[in-house]
Amino acid sequence: MTISCDVAILGGGTGGYVAAIRAAQLGKEVVIIEQDKLGGTCLHRGCIPSKSLLRSAELFAQMKESESFGIEASGVKLVFPKVQQRKQAIVDQLHGGVQYLMRKHNIKVIQGTGRVIGPSIFSPKSGAVAVELADGEMETVVPAHLIIATGSRPRVLPGLEPDGSHVLSSDEALVLDELPASMLIVGGGVIGVEWASLLHDFGVEVTVVEAASQLIPAEDEEISRELQRILVRRGIKVLTGTAVIPDSVQKAQGVTLSAKQGDKVVELAAEKMLVSIGRQANVENIGLENTDVGIKNGFIRVNEHMQTTEPHIYAIGDCIGGLQLAHAASHEGIVAVEHLSGEKPHGYDPVHVPRCVYTRPEVASVGLTEKEAREKGYSIKTGKFPFSAIGKALVYGEKEGFVKVIANAETQDILGVHMIGPHVTDMIGEATLAQILDATPWEIGQAVHAHPTLSEIIGEAALAVDGRATGI
Ligand code: FAD
Repeated sequence: MTISCDVAILGGGTGGYVAAIRAAQLGKEVVIIEQDKLGGTCLHRGCIPSKSLLRSAELFAQMKESESFGIEASGVKLVFPKVQQRKQAIVDQLHGGVQYLMRKHNIKVIQGTGRVIGPSIFSPKSGAVAVELADGEMETVVPAHLIIATGSRPRVLPGLEPDGSHVLSSDEALVLDELPASMLIVGGGVIGVEWASLLHDFGVEVTVVEAASQLIPAEDEEISRELQRILVRRGIKVLTGTAVIPDSVQKAQGVTLSAKQGDKVVELAAEKMLVSIGRQANVENIGLENTDVGIKNGFIRVNEHMQTTEPHIYAIGDCIGGLQLAHAASHEGIVAVEHLSGEKPHGYDPVHVPRCVYTRPEVASVGLTEKEAREKGYSIKTGKFPFSAIGKALVYGEKEGFVKVIANAETQDILGVHMIGPHVTDMIGEATLAQILDATPWEIGQAVHAHPTLSEIIGEAALAVDGRATGI
């Protein structure tokens, strides 16, 4: 069967389904092709299930610390299968929500695996999609515009391939039936440190091995140092500047492996190992060889409006690389759809995309790190304010961390905001808005922040840029 439409979207993850909804709002006839479940990585193997586990872990850890709040709780017990059931119930509810949104917007969802085809009897241009359905039948979707949103999968380190028992990727870790006694985490990026935080809170002995000189290498050095200090103080073992030797892995009762730390070789052992060394774009076996769509370093090349090197074919989300975040994928989807509809959207600029890490304490940032700002030649000034001087943080019993604001010393523009501490992922929105509206630190400080709230820290850190903070 052949289906013609205005927009076809290959991949129904966060990028794909949000793009579909925006296209439907703009009056387009839309078809989504999804081989697995609508919602993609974020809903089924990423953001949502991992945050559900993190919340259970945080609550468990806090209950053990309840005495400091004057509450004596005895018999607090972790029932991990129930933690997993709760996680699945949340995922299922949201999955139902995405399916409902597709029906509400009259978006046709084709369940099957798609491959882009070249010029053919269906269309003189490349960009039609041949879809293999579950029953082996074929369908061809012929769109005026195609958006590729095929996402990514865990990057595999040769020698450390996931085996489902000893060596896990985040996909397998999310569906563990029971917790191991100890876990070696290879890779201290966002996924690695989130797992370190949650496993430790569940009582698992955790070691994190990171080849770079700091955890969460893309983040501001000061923030990363503070995160490492707090994780280590909580009892997590962190080895930065340490590269695992993949062919040294031995599996028996547990896993052992050697790692290089400068000239030294260290021996590591744990019951299981989680490999979290980044994500690889799904660009193979989707028919790109039938098109002139360009690829660079394993990711689809796009311009600021998400057009590939074939202007009627767009690509969004993890398959184009960059920040590889769900909200980046959905924003890119909206930019692509508005552009192909002639709406003239602002081009996508990753500097305005917030980045969040859901460890305990959380990390959130937007814009340039101090190092990046200096490398770009800006003359900068910074303001910093600690959570220990914020009343609400003391009330919550979470006074570690700080907020740092980096501003351009000449123009007063905000270049970056970096936060570590309680609930900062819910507060980065203020900094994102301030940055996009070109607010100065003084203007952020002039906005009255309610007392007592955690958000007072943003006003204080902004005022600290010019030595005007009043709370310290
Ligand atoms: P995906 O969500 O991967 O969707 C791609 C879809 O395309 C999939 O459903 C796939 O089945 C489908 N597909 C692929 N090929 C084909 C084909 N040939 N035919 C048909 N369908 C196809 N991001 C955040 O912003 N916040 C977080 O807290 C966060 N936590 C994360 C935690 C973990 C453990 C992981 C792994 C990721 C996390 N992410 C987080 C990242 C986030 O999940 C991704 O950035 C986001 O899912 C990317 O969306 P996407 O639409 O590009 O791709």
